[in-house]
Order: sequence, then C-alpha cells, then structure tokens
Amino acid sequence: MPFLQLKTGIEIIVGAEGRLYIEVPGETYLSLSKPSIGLLEILKDGVSGQELFNRFGVLEVSSEGKRLADLLEILQDYSLLNLSPNDERLRRRQKVHTTLGLDFFKRIPIRNAHFLARFGQSASDVPRVYLWVCICVLAVATFFACANVSPPAAPPQVQQLLVIAPLLLLQLAIHEAFHAFAMGYFGLPVTDVGIGLMFYVIPTGYVDRSAAVLLPSRADRALVSAAGPAVDLVALTVVGATREFSNEPWVALWTWLQIFQLGALAVNLNPLSRSDGYYMLEALTGHTNLRTHALRLIFHDITRIPPPNYLVGVSKQRHFAYYLYVVSILLYAAFSFTLVITAVLYASG
Ligand SMILES: [Zn+2]
Repeated sequence: MPFLQLKTGIEIIVGAEGRLYIEVPGETYLSLSKPSIGLLEILKDGVSGQELFNRFGVLEVSSEGKRLADLLEILQDYSLLNLSPNDERLRRRQKVHTTLGLDFFKRIPIRNAHFLARFGQSASDVPRVYLWVCICVLAVATFFACANVSPPAAPPQVQQLLVIAPLLLLQLAIHEAFHAFAMGYFGLPVTDVGIGLMFYVIPTGYVDRSAAVLLPSRADRALVSAAGPAVDLVALTVVGATREFSNEPWVALWTWLQIFQLGALAVNLNPLSRSDGYYMLEALTGHTNLRTHALRLIFHDITRIPPPNYLVGVSKQRHFAYYLYVVSILLYAAFSFTLVITAVLYASG
C-alpha cells in the first residue's frame, strides 16, 4: 500500500448547522462525517495504507474497512491526497450524482460573471429582516395580482408567444442575477454563472450557490434561494397590474404571460428536484440531502432492510419530518397532475 498524505493547505470550515466541510475542486463543498474528520487528522501527517487500517482497528475485508476505503477513494478523486485522482471513477461518481440529483442539466458558463456578487455586496448594510418583509409583501401582492387569472377563450397566438418568450427569458436572467446578488450580499463568492439547459433542452440560467452551505443561519441560506423567486413575484405583480389597466387584445396577452409565469414558478418551487423551493425547504429545516435521506428512510422502513449508518438512531421528530416531506411530494405530484390534465382538456377544447 502506498504512503498516503493529505495535501497541504486544506482547511476544514464550519458551515450550516455546525457541520464541517472542506472545499473541493470545482468550488463545491464536501460535508465531512465524524469518521472522515478522524481520517483527515491522521492523513495530515501521512501514513501507510496498512498502518491506517491498523489505527482504525479495522480489517480491510470487513464492512468498516470497505467504508474506510470508500472515504479514501473520495479524498483521492477530489484531489485532496498525494495520489492522482482516478478519472474514470470520478466521472462515474459525478454521473451517479447527476442521476440521483435529477440534475439533467447542461451548463454553459459565462466568463467573468462573478462581478454580479459585487452589486449584492454593496447592499450588505441593508438589514436581512427588511428583505424578508419585502418578500412577504410581494407574496401577498402576487396573490392579489393572480387571484382572478383564468385562461382566455382562445389559446395563445404565435404573435403573443413571440412577445411572451423574450419577456420570460429576461425575467429568468434577472432571477438568476438576484441569486448572485444574494451571494454577494452575504459576502460569498460567485464562481460559476451561466446559461443552462434543463433536461438538455429547456433554456434556463444557473448560479452556483454551493458556498451558501457556509452560512450558519438557516434564514440566510433560505434567502439565497428565495432571491430568485422574489424576482418572479415582482414580475407577476407588475404583469397583473398591467393587465388590470389594459384593454383587449392586450388583456389576453398579459393573461397568457401570467399563466406561463405561474407555471414556471410552480415548477421552480417543487419540493422534489433541485429547485429553489427544495433548497429553501432544506435551508429552513436545517437538513442536507433531505430527499435522499427521506426516501431511503421510508424504503428501509417498508422493506425492513437495515438502513445505512446515517439513518441509524434518527430522532422521532426527524423521522416524522421525513414522512411529512414525502407527503408534500405526493401532494405536489397530485397538484401537478391535476394541472396537466386541466391543460390537456383545455387544449383539446
Ligand atoms: Zn432560482
């Protein structure tokens, strides 16, 4: 077994919920479990593979030994050890991550976009509570701006869609910029911004917000995710007010725009995929990997197959919260299903 040593300059950072993280290449943060912290301590001074297994008192062939080997492989693949990463394994790891994360997303980065954070930084004196009050007021305004929206008798015309599509794209760009402003507001770096293709087709934008795990406050982490949807609330309110003061044929145009905006907001607040809604939920409840943990817990409850380490000894409240989360997914799915059926019935006259 070769001599293993942690690279120098690797810092352990305290982040969300007091958890410990290390920054790994690609400007993302790896959450550290208790055993991995012990492992990092030993690896700082360097150790041979055999000695490492002896220090942990585990046999390489045992299940604890395999877990230790897994941790070492992760450290190796993220270039944290004095060994070159196993590129094929890293690609496999990223593929599994993408599949499990329902993250079918093509990223096209925009260079030099980190300047966006500076705008947010210049507003860092504004108290957070004002921002939350703004969001609450906007939510109420949006409710009134959308309360009387119903699909016009005729489906959207091509000319109307030619106006709606660029307006939605503009809204999307401002939405993403506000995530970047929020990162800057909290003094976090914005390292990756770009144009994205959801499911490799639907144009959207993205801002890498992984550094938000470094914010200790749940409300602050939620605010980074809420900043984008806040833009959507403003847009919905403005379009709703414009519609109120318009005459036909403009009423139909603004109504269709609002319907598309509402559809996009509903998708973006879904509790299942890596949406703004999901991240807000994770932030506010103080969970990480909420979806994976909740679905696995229920799987192990049903099948009675022994659960992995991280689900052993889960408190009653947490157990209940996981079930509540899965109920929210089911409710959301039922709601979306009803909407789709309504849309299909409408389209077919
Ligand atoms: Zn967003």
